[in-house]
Amino acid sequence: MFVHCCHCTDCQRHTGSAFVINALIETDHIEILAGAPEPVSMPTESGRPHDIYRCPACKVAVWSDYGRRPRLRFVRVGTLDDPRAIRPDVHIYTRSKVPWVRLPEGARAFEAFYEIEKEWPAESLARRKAVLG
Ligand SMILES: [Zn+2]
Repeated sequence: MFVHCCHCTDCQRHTGSAFVINALIETDHIEILAGAPEPVSMPTESGRPHDIYRCPACKVAVWSDYGRRPRLRFVRVGTLDDPRAIRPDVHIYTRSKVPWVRLPEGARAFEAFYEIEKEWPAESLARRKAVLG
C-alpha cells in the first residue's frame, strides 16, 4: 500500500543501522513459504504496542505489527527476494536522520509523522480502510 523509510531512533536501534524500510501491506497478502515468525514485544516510549516478528531460526526481523493490528504488517523490505524493486514513498522522522544520509532530490520527507490522507494514493487508502475499518 505504501512504503516508509523511517529514520527514528527506535528503528535505528532495532536495525543497528541508520534507518529501516517498511512496506505496509495487508497481512493476508503475505505468503509464508517456511516457518512461523515469532513476535517479540518491544518497549516503546508512547506505550503503544510494537511487536517485531522474527524468523525462529535466524532471528532476522521480517515484519512489525504496530498497535496490535493483526490485519496490517510493516514488512522489512530488506528481507524480500528483490528489495531493489521497492522504493520508499516517504521518509519519516527525518529530525533524527543521521547527517551523512542524503535524501534523493524531490523525496517526500517529514520531520516526524505525516497525514496519511494527504500522502497515500486513493487506492492505498481504500485498501487501508478495508483492513482497519
Ligand atoms: Zn521508526
